[in-house]
Amino acid sequence: MGYQDGVKKIPAAAISTRDAEKLSALLRGGEPLRVRLILSCRTLPDAPSANVAGEITGTEKPGEVIVVGGHLDAWDKGSGAHDDGAGCVQAIEALDLIRTLGRTLGLKPVRTIRAVMFMNEENGLRGGRGYVADPLRRSEKHVAMIESDAGGFAPRGFFVDADSAVRTQVFRWKTVMEKVNAGRLLAGRSGVDISPMVATGVPGFGLDPENHRYFDYHHSDKDTPDKVNPRELEMGAIAEALLAYIIAQEGLPSEPATRSR
Ligand SMILES: [Zn+2]
Repeated sequence: MGYQDGVKKIPAAAISTRDAEKLSALLRGGEPLRVRLILSCRTLPDAPSANVAGEITGTEKPGEVIVVGGHLDAWDKGSGAHDDGAGCVQAIEALDLIRTLGRTLGLKPVRTIRAVMFMNEENGLRGGRGYVADPLRRSEKHVAMIESDAGGFAPRGFFVDADSAVRTQVFRWKTVMEKVNAGRLLAGRSGVDISPMVATGVPGFGLDPENHRYFDYHHSDKDTPDKVNPRELEMGAIAEALLAYIIAQEGLPSEPATRSR
């Protein structure tokens, strides 16, 4: 929900999927229903905040960047473990995994792989927009944006938000991605935080995990760390690390001026 300029602001509230389903079940029961809603929230003036980023600099093409990200803020219910603590932890883990493989097997990404924890996704996408607007971006070329923001569940694949040339190349990696249970590669929307960069023509990738239980927790008090299975979370990080590393080594077909989807 957002307010348009010039329109009188009326109180508004969002309820979680769980509560919405409970409410509609009660309504279906046919009994008269009264809901008491106490809203104590306020919109305070904007204050400075920041994205948090770290990277492994590419050995040959350091100015070409693959981002692996999630968002640092959470809905003001629960602790935001799945949404999006999982995505942040997976971005850090993906880089740590690649760094470890560099130390142990000498695998070094040709292009830069950067973990970005975007600030303020839930309340206005300011981190994602700020990332694109940052003057530091002018000297960089972004090759791909990868995001995990659909829960820390067992990975199944990635949604690929890119033109047909990129999709054709990525779909060829199905067999190798299947080795980490992430071979379901489909055209689709990638992620909210990375959407401002994807809108400029950079290919976007959204981790697509098992989604059967996400809305048991999403934006509710129940989104706490005990709901995240460590092994499933790790598998998602591994899938992101593998995809980021392949793109870092192989690159992607450059985007035409106008995108055909
Ligand atoms: Zn989220």
